[in-house]
Amino acid sequence: MAEQTLKVQKIKNGIVIDHIPCGMALKVLKILGIQGDIGSTLTLAMHVKSKNGLKDIVKIEDRNLDERELDKIALIAPTATVNVIKDYEVVRKHKVVVPKVVKGIVRCMNPRCITNQREPVEPEFTTISTEPIVIKCKYCGREMDSEDIVENII
Ligand SMILES: [Zn+2]
Repeated sequence: MAEQTLKVQKIKNGIVIDHIPCGMALKVLKILGIQGDIGSTLTLAMHVKSKNGLKDIVKIEDRNLDERELDKIALIAPTATVNVIKDYEVVRKHKVVVPKVVKGIVRCMNPRCITNQREPVEPEFTTISTEPIVIKCKYCGREMDSEDIVENII
């Protein structure tokens, strides 16, 4: 019953990130830098039943997402849908798009990579798979999956 209540509960202004792969909601919050006291209301629903199986939902009041944050979400939750809410209405709804080139938002996990040297080069990856997500470093060829990405998000 708690799930039902949560699904119909509306927020006035903010964002709803829906269709997050089951179990990834906390990681989405982590990559958005949302931990502990953020000064806005946060609703988290995990393991919610949907047509395509279980999913997670995150609602954040009085918050917007920029392109960079949308790219980060796409990398760990490629199925996510972002709803922008204004005055209790959905004013924009779109699916996240996994970027083909991931630039400056993930650090390469190879400590010897040129992007991790004293005069670092901006990290850049190519997306080589979207299901599951795998990105490959342009400089050293290291491949990273979504777990690695969560750990190395900038
Ligand atoms: Zn590298």
